[in-house]
Amino acid sequence: MIVPDRIVRTTCPYCGVGCQMHLKVKDEFIYAVEAPFDAAPNYGMLCVKGRFGTDYVKHPGRVRTPLIRVNRAEGRSAPPVWREASWDEALDLCADELVRVTREYGNDAIASFASAKATNEDNYVFQKFIRSLMGTNNIDHCARLCHAGSVTGLQLSIGSSAMSNSIAEMENLEAFIVTGSNTTETHPVISNFLKRAVRQNGAKLIVIDPRRIDMTNFATLWLRQNPGSDVAVFQAMAHTIVKEELYDPNFIAQRTEGFNEYLETLESFTPEWAEEVSGVPAESIREAARIYANAGRAAIYWGMGISQSTHGTDNTLSLVNLALMCGHVGRAGTGLNPLRGQNNVQGCSDSGGLPNVYTAYQRVDDPAVRDLFQTTWGVPLSPSPGLTATEMCDACYTEEVRAMFVLGENPMMSEPNQTHARHALEKLQFLVCQDIFINETGEMADVILPATSFAEKDGTFTNTDRRVQRCRAAVPPVGNSRADWDILSDLGRRVEARRGIKLSAGFDYTHPEQIWEEMRRVTPDFRGIDYARLEREGGVHWPCPSFDHPGTPFLFAEEFPRGRGKFWAVDYGTESEQPDAEYPYNLSTGRVLYHWSGSTMTGRSRLEDVYPEAVCEISPDDAAALGLVTGDWVNVSSRRGTITLRVLMTGRSPAGTIFVPFHFAEAAANLLTLDRIDERAKIPDYKNTAVKIEKTDAPVGLDEGYSDHLFDRGAIKDPVQIH
Ligand code: SF4
Repeated sequence: MIVPDRIVRTTCPYCGVGCQMHLKVKDEFIYAVEAPFDAAPNYGMLCVKGRFGTDYVKHPGRVRTPLIRVNRAEGRSAPPVWREASWDEALDLCADELVRVTREYGNDAIASFASAKATNEDNYVFQKFIRSLMGTNNIDHCARLCHAGSVTGLQLSIGSSAMSNSIAEMENLEAFIVTGSNTTETHPVISNFLKRAVRQNGAKLIVIDPRRIDMTNFATLWLRQNPGSDVAVFQAMAHTIVKEELYDPNFIAQRTEGFNEYLETLESFTPEWAEEVSGVPAESIREAARIYANAGRAAIYWGMGISQSTHGTDNTLSLVNLALMCGHVGRAGTGLNPLRGQNNVQGCSDSGGLPNVYTAYQRVDDPAVRDLFQTTWGVPLSPSPGLTATEMCDACYTEEVRAMFVLGENPMMSEPNQTHARHALEKLQFLVCQDIFINETGEMADVILPATSFAEKDGTFTNTDRRVQRCRAAVPPVGNSRADWDILSDLGRRVEARRGIKLSAGFDYTHPEQIWEEMRRVTPDFRGIDYARLEREGGVHWPCPSFDHPGTPFLFAEEFPRGRGKFWAVDYGTESEQPDAEYPYNLSTGRVLYHWSGSTMTGRSRLEDVYPEAVCEISPDDAAALGLVTGDWVNVSSRRGTITLRVLMTGRSPAGTIFVPFHFAEAAANLLTLDRIDERAKIPDYKNTAVKIEKTDAPVGLDEGYSDHLFDRGAIKDPVQIH
C-alpha cells in the first residue's frame, strides 16, 4: 500500500459541478484521486474525469519553457518550428509586439480570450491587463460559445444570468424540467442528485430533448421535440398554464411586469399547433405544463441544447416566462438553472472576462462603476464595450484586430466554421498563447507561454451554482512553467515600463490571495468572502456582501436585480440551417462523458485509451436507409467541409438527426458547423447544421484494429439495446 507524502484538497479542473477532490501525492506524483465524503457539493462522488482524468498534469507533452516560433515567414498554418526562449526574452517580445500594435493601429486592434479553466485570480489579472494597459475591452471567453443565449435571455428578463439555486437543493425538488442537457454525461454528479430526487423523493422529471439521453430513463414524461422547435413546446406549455389558470396570480402581481401584454401573444401557441411543429403530442405538452405548474417546488435545468442556437435567447426567455408565471423562482428548490460547462466558466465571467462588464457584472459603460476601477487601478479606462468572441474572429479577418492574446482557450477547436476561423487567425500580426499544452490554436502562435495546471497553483474557482472554492497547489510546476497570474503580472510590469506609467494598484502581486483581496475591494458581491473563510467553510455562494452574511444558495428571495421579472413575447421561427435535398440530415454537436472541450486535457489522460475517437451517432432507421452498421466509416459533409469518422447506430438519435462530439481534432465537428449567430447573444448555432452522409473506406494508414476497443471496452454501450 502506498503511503502518500501528502493529501491536498482542491477542486476538479473539468466541469462546472466543482467537485471537491483529494489529490494523493507520492514523490511529487499524483497517484490517486479521491473525494471527501463530508464536503459539498459532491459529498464523496466523482465522475470518471475527476477520478481518472488528471494524469495529464505529468504528460510529457506539457510545455515546459517559453517557445518562440522561428518560421513565421511560412505563415501560421505551416507546421510550427519552435525554439526555446528565456522568460525575459519571451515576455519582452510579447510586451514589444502588443505595445507596437496598439501604437500603430489603436487599442482596439488587440483582442483576447480569457480562460474558463484558469482561476478567478488569473482571469482578474488578465482582464485588468487588457483593460488598463492595452486600453480595450476586447476580452471574452468560451461562455460566449456555450451559454450566451442563456445569459442574454436571463439578463433581459430578470437581470441576472447565474444559476439561481444551489446543487444542494436538487434532492428536495418536487418536479423539474431538464431540457437541452445530457446531464449524465456533461454534469455527471449533478445528474446523480437529480436522479436521487426522482428515486428517493418521488420528484417528477420532465425531459424535453430530441435525444434519448440517459435522463429519459428517470422521467415521468419525455417530450421528444423536433430539433429547433423548443420555443413551440415551451410557449404551448405557457398557453396551457394560462388556459387552465394554473399560474400564480400573487407572484405575477407582486414580482413581475408585462404579463397581460404577454398573454395577448400566447393565444396562437396552442398545444395542437405545437404538436404540428414539434412532433410532441399536444396532450403530453398539457401534461408537462400541469406537472410543472402544480408542483409546490419546481425548477428548470438546461444546457447548451437551449443556448447554442440562433434562437438561444428566445429559448431562454420562454423558459423564464414559465417560471415567472408559476412563481417557481426565489425559493429553495425552485429556480432557473443554466448548467455551466467548464470548471470556472462562471468564475471567468464573474472576474470580468467579458467585453461589457468588470467583476460581478458591473458595466464598463456605467460611469460610476468605471470611476471605481479607474480610481483603484489609477489609469483611464475605455467606456466602450468590446468585441465578443464571435465578433473577434471576423475582426481578425477584416484586420480590425491585429494581435490576439489567448489565455487557456482553443478557438481553433471551439469556433464554428473552422476554415473561416483559420483564415481569420492567419491574418494576425501577432498571436500569443498561454497554456499548459500546445493546442490547435497554439500551433498558429508566435509565442507560447507555459502555464501551470490546476494541480500546480493556488487560487479560487467558482462552480456552476456560484460557490467560490479553493484550488490548491499539490505538486511543483513542470519545467519552467509559471502560474497564469504570475506570468501576466510580469508582463504587466514590462508593459507599464514601455508605456512609462505605473498603476496605483499595479501588477506587483506575489500570491493570488492579494489578487482576491483586490477583487473583494472592487466587488460588493464578493466582500464577505476571503481565503480564511474559504479555509473554514470550504466554499461560499456569492453574493456575499459581508463577513457576517451566510452567502446566497438561492437568489431572488426578495426581488430580481432588474426589479420586477419581465415577461417577454417570443415568436416562433428559426434562422438555423435546415436540411434540404442536398444535405438531408441535421447535425447536432456536444460532449461525451469521457472527454472535455477540445480534449486538450482528456486526450492526454488515460481516458483517451477508453474513448479515443469521434463517432457519428445515427438512428437505426437512418443507418438502415444508408446501408450502414455500427463501425462503418462515413464522410459527413456540410457546405463548409467534410470529416471522416465511424458510425454508431443508437436509439439516442432521432431519425433525421446525427450527433458528433466536438472533442476530436481529427474529425472536428466545427469544420462543419455554421458561423450564423443569435443576433442578441452572438452565440453560434452548434445544434443545427445541414449535412450529408456517405459511406467510405477506412482512412489509409490506420493501425489495424484502430479503436475497435471503443466499442469492445464498453465506453460506448449500444443504446439501441439499452432502450
Ligand atoms: Fe469533475 Fe464534473 Fe466529474 Fe465532478 S462531475 S468529477 S467536477 S468532471
